[in-house]
Amino acid sequence: EVRVRFAPSPTGALHIGGVRTALYNYLFAKKMGGKFLLRIEDTDQTRFVPGAEEYIKESLEWLGISPEESPWHPGDCGPYRQSERKPMYMQYALDLVEKGHAYYAFDTSEELEAMRERLTAARVVQPQYNSITRTQMKNSLTLSEDEVKTRLASGDPYVIRVKMPRKEEVRLNDMIRGWVMVHSSTLDDKVLMKSDGMPTYHLANIVDDHLMGITHVIRGEEWLPSAPLHVLLYRFFGWEDTMPQFAHLPLLLKPDGNGKLSKRDGDKLGFPVFPLNWTDPFSGEKSSGFREQGYLPDAFLNFLAFLGWNPGDEREIFSLEELAEAFSIDRIGKSGTKFDIAKAKWYNEQYLRLKTNPELMQYLIADAKADGVDIPIEKANAMISLLKERVTFPSDFWRDSKFIMAAPKEFDQEVASKKWNADAAKVLGAYATVLDGFDSPFDAVAAKALLESTAEAEGIKLGKVMQAVRLAVTGSGAGPDLMEVFAILGTAEVSKRIRFALN
Ligand code: GLU
Repeated sequence: EVRVRFAPSPTGALHIGGVRTALYNYLFAKKMGGKFLLRIEDTDQTRFVPGAEEYIKESLEWLGISPEESPWHPGDCGPYRQSERKPMYMQYALDLVEKGHAYYAFDTSEELEAMRERLTAARVVQPQYNSITRTQMKNSLTLSEDEVKTRLASGDPYVIRVKMPRKEEVRLNDMIRGWVMVHSSTLDDKVLMKSDGMPTYHLANIVDDHLMGITHVIRGEEWLPSAPLHVLLYRFFGWEDTMPQFAHLPLLLKPDGNGKLSKRDGDKLGFPVFPLNWTDPFSGEKSSGFREQGYLPDAFLNFLAFLGWNPGDEREIFSLEELAEAFSIDRIGKSGTKFDIAKAKWYNEQYLRLKTNPELMQYLIADAKADGVDIPIEKANAMISLLKERVTFPSDFWRDSKFIMAAPKEFDQEVASKKWNADAAKVLGAYATVLDGFDSPFDAVAAKALLESTAEAEGIKLGKVMQAVRLAVTGSGAGPDLMEVFAILGTAEVSKRIRFALN
């Protein structure tokens, strides 16, 4: 059975790259008839941010991609928070020490610093604790067995490091990138167990993926450099047969393609990079979210799915179920994907148009109510039809149709200075009179026919005064189909507005 996991660290708001990773894991699990798990990786207590875990949960719930097993909904492999699994890890680290693949290291931070300085002075580009330098350090490979025993018995602080082989080609076959080969001489002796008894990310991640029966690791490209170490750890533990397959997702790039999209880019560039609003509990800094900006969860999901994946044909609109059906890892691109907010808006527009008028009326009626305005159902329905093809966010409905419920008190002066003239006043005056005497059903076609015949009778070209007509009735120079607006307003209201404008 396929089992995949999303393994976020609760170090802040989940950003768009993290949500995409969660979504791809979800889609892959659904596609394969497998399970999607979530594990909180909180072994680094110094980076713990209160509220971050709740934020992750709420984001996934909003999108409808909640995991089947998680800290909030445990399955058989719990606990699902690494901090609660703390007692489990030491035995695995000790197992590696016993097998000769890991060792105790007693170096103080001063000693480590001195080593780095020595190496830097000798022009070593990347000073590391590795198969060469460890021979000069205080660890169980250099100290006598007795001394190691004494130090351990007396409670000296220590870490456990992996013993990286000196010369070995480490290979892994990434599902997206193909064969990746790294020489072990470029890797360092990473700490597996910290002096506070907490495992590092590397140890906890491998042990947990193993114990939780994870079959595929789908995660961001920033973890690719760690993958060779992970492959070695599987081998050292003797878990090669059940080692998961890896798929490292391409980076999300800034809109101009220049570098990785960062958490800071959103507010700088004027679009959200977080699913939900977030206030940093330490700095109080606020970041805006897609949800609060008016993105629909389905539209956002669809947008997200296409940030790095495509179905291989022209189709762009996919429900979550359809995405799961169509999804495959080999259609994920290798190169980074530019973040394009225009595309996110486009998706939102498409999804709004897929909704029925009664669904959309809820937004309009609620927003109007908040402004103290009650819109009769029939009018609300007409207002939705008028704007459906023009809006990007649900809140646009009320913003762009307010003028229907309240006659303009002011007129756009810039438009007035350019478009208002005697001819316009003449046509408008005559039109108001015609409307007052009109008693047949009044719709957009009738409104237009009457306006045309009025202008013709005055000997004035309608095209030349059309914007002035709009200005008189709506107060602005642009907006939705004017004849539809007239039909919604009715003859009496249009006439009244024209007379007000003419005064
Ligand atoms: N805790 C890691 C993160 O925050 C997980 C990486 C992985 O999926 O292995 O991204």
